[in-house]
Amino acid sequence: MSVNALISNYFTTGALSDLPSDHFIDGVFVPSERGNRMESFDPGTATVFGDFAAGTAADVDHAVSSASAGFALWRDTPPARRCAILMEAARLMRAEADWLAVVESLDSGKTLTEAYGDIHGSARLFEYYAGAADKLDGRSVNLGNDNAAFTLREPVGVTAHIVPWNYPTSTLVRGIAPALAGGCSAVVKPAETTPYTALMIAELLIRAGVPAGVVNVVTGTGQEAGAPLVQDPRVRHVTFTGSVATGVGVMQAVAPNVTGLTLELGGKSPLVAFADADAEAVAEGALWAIFSNAGQICSAGSRLVIHRDLHAPVLELLVKKAKALTLGHGLRNTDMGAVNSERHLAAITAHVEHARSRGVEILCGGQATSDPETGKGWFFEPTILDGLSAQDPAIQQEIFGPVLGVQVFEDEEEALALANGTEFALAAGVYTKDIATALRMARRIDAGQVTVNDYWAGGIELPFGGNRKSGFGREKGLEGIDAYTRAKAITLAV
Ligand code: NAD
Repeated sequence: MSVNALISNYFTTGALSDLPSDHFIDGVFVPSERGNRMESFDPGTATVFGDFAAGTAADVDHAVSSASAGFALWRDTPPARRCAILMEAARLMRAEADWLAVVESLDSGKTLTEAYGDIHGSARLFEYYAGAADKLDGRSVNLGNDNAAFTLREPVGVTAHIVPWNYPTSTLVRGIAPALAGGCSAVVKPAETTPYTALMIAELLIRAGVPAGVVNVVTGTGQEAGAPLVQDPRVRHVTFTGSVATGVGVMQAVAPNVTGLTLELGGKSPLVAFADADAEAVAEGALWAIFSNAGQICSAGSRLVIHRDLHAPVLELLVKKAKALTLGHGLRNTDMGAVNSERHLAAITAHVEHARSRGVEILCGGQATSDPETGKGWFFEPTILDGLSAQDPAIQQEIFGPVLGVQVFEDEEEALALANGTEFALAAGVYTKDIATALRMARRIDAGQVTVNDYWAGGIELPFGGNRKSGFGREKGLEGIDAYTRAKAITLAV
């Protein structure tokens, strides 16, 4: 079915046929052992469009057993074969991009264009790590003539992937692609509001040639399905993306088993604009740094830290651009889609209401709203809060929605102090024409990645991750494989 037919079919019936709705374990879809179900909402209409299995510890146990058997097969699959299979997965993802993107948009609320970007970016992730699968060499080490010494890079074993709802496909694939390339097996727990694309991608991987059992998906809640997964002693690495509070809980839960952990948590990333920067470039950069994916991005540029001289011209442009953004159902492909859930919309609204009540100046937006075409759905207006102090809650707390906080500085030291002035340290952008200022700031800002004069520059080839409360470990890039392999040292006395 063409993408237009899929969309018009959905708007007519309010449902999508052929959605997977059970766990994916040992290469097949299986219902929950207890038979429990959950519903998934379309955030663009605030109505249910499908249901799915609500997993419990019994399903997790089944999936981890399957992944343990799968690991024994996959570990011994020749690297060149793993490479070919992951390349085929990339090809299938591209071939099925329409179906995947429609489901991703519908489940998450994001626009269709954003969903296509996620699907094609994820196909690239499979290609990138396919290219690495047969290059995971060890090294030979010179201990003198009495020993031959070398290292092997071995897969860590069964890995668990706890995935959030803002990037259900991209976050999943940036975890499982390097895990599979390195020879690990996986059990995935998607977010409770976005279960479908993980199930579809697991099934696609089997068609690409991944043996049954190597990739498994258990859907359900964090408490019922996520917690038993991360606590299972057969799991040797957990990759978690989500909130700080849950991440801290996962860290404590894996400690007794001494399980490896990657934590990709929140952010409150600054876009720092110096007086010499181009006002139009700053306004355009700041617009998409915060309003892409309705601001539900851990690395969103949620703070504009701007020199006093540039404040008026940039804010004039930025407010105009923000007011011109169109909002609406993700499948109608407006500029900005819905936020993911009613609960999350309430949380964003509460942040902005608190700001209003303490007298913060709201330059635009500030209200929950709905799809102008239907009057339905969970939307929040593009919002800009001006003149915030360093300790303002809207600066210190992650809002995770389309809400930009503006902070003004006088000189470079103050800019740096403001940029580093939260407990997060994930990403940062610097806008200036002066290369020395750019380099000084890039070195001194505490963050996993700093971009200059293009907030979203970069790609899957670069490592991504945070410091301090933004987490630890790196995903993407060749560094992304490190968590899934470990070195073994071997010596042979001769
Ligand atoms: P969350 O951290 O509660 O959930 C993320 C994932 O963890 C989900 O799959 C969830 O089911 C799972 N989970 C929850 N409890 C678990 C447990 N005890 N053990 C194992 N897994 C568990 O995030 P949320 O409630 O969906 O969102 C709340 C806030 O988190 C957002 O407002 C935002 O600030 C932040 N967030 C950050 C990211 C990110 O990319 N860093 C993504 C989503 C949400």
